[in-house]
Amino acid sequence: MRVLTKTYPVDDWSRGMTPFEILISTMLSQSTTVANERRGMEGLRAAFPRIEPAVLATASIPRIQRAIWHAGLARQKARRIRDVARVVQGEWGGTMDRVLARPVAEARAALMGLPGVGPKTADIVLAMAAGYPTFPVDTHIARIAKRWRLAQGQDYEAIRTALERWTAAEDRKAWHLALIAHGRALCTARRPRCSQCPVAADCDWFLSSVRGFNKGLRKARR
Ligand code: SF4
Repeated sequence: MRVLTKTYPVDDWSRGMTPFEILISTMLSQSTTVANERRGMEGLRAAFPRIEPAVLATASIPRIQRAIWHAGLARQKARRIRDVARVVQGEWGGTMDRVLARPVAEARAALMGLPGVGPKTADIVLAMAAGYPTFPVDTHIARIAKRWRLAQGQDYEAIRTALERWTAAEDRKAWHLALIAHGRALCTARRPRCSQCPVAADCDWFLSSVRGFNKGLRKARR
């Protein structure tokens, strides 16, 4: 992992954003690419004076939907964003600060009680907005963890727990970002570019592919 953090310097996309903006951005990123999530976020910034609970709680769903359409699933996401804004505005006192100041398990449970917020979104908000040492698992991280055989199970909690066991609390955010960068750059879902990978020598998936290839070669030569 230290090799990867040197290869991919920290690119903290959440810098300068409020916790509520981080939450909305993460909701927009569900089931879409980072480029489309960013276009959805830009659309929201263009359509509304501020991305704040008070503003979005009173916005109409069609207006939010039009603003975020680039992010896909716009109708569903618009409703969830409006509903989340209403909870934060009405039940949380218009800010996420008090909830994020709770112990991590409580804050996580409160976030997961919001409409459309699952463990991944909650963990991203906890890590990026509140500095909790959670290890959010996105699709790139899940794929790499599987290739590296880091976890016993393949479900979200199994992978998250394994990654948190393997990493020191202070390294988790940087390593989370480095793994995502690696998944986008080289360790892609289809045709990973293993010949350029700086950690190929330690990668179970690569080593077993090489072993399988050599075995096939030996068989073919007999
Ligand atoms: S060797 Fe290939 S599969 Fe393994 S981490 Fe590198 S790119 Fe991914």
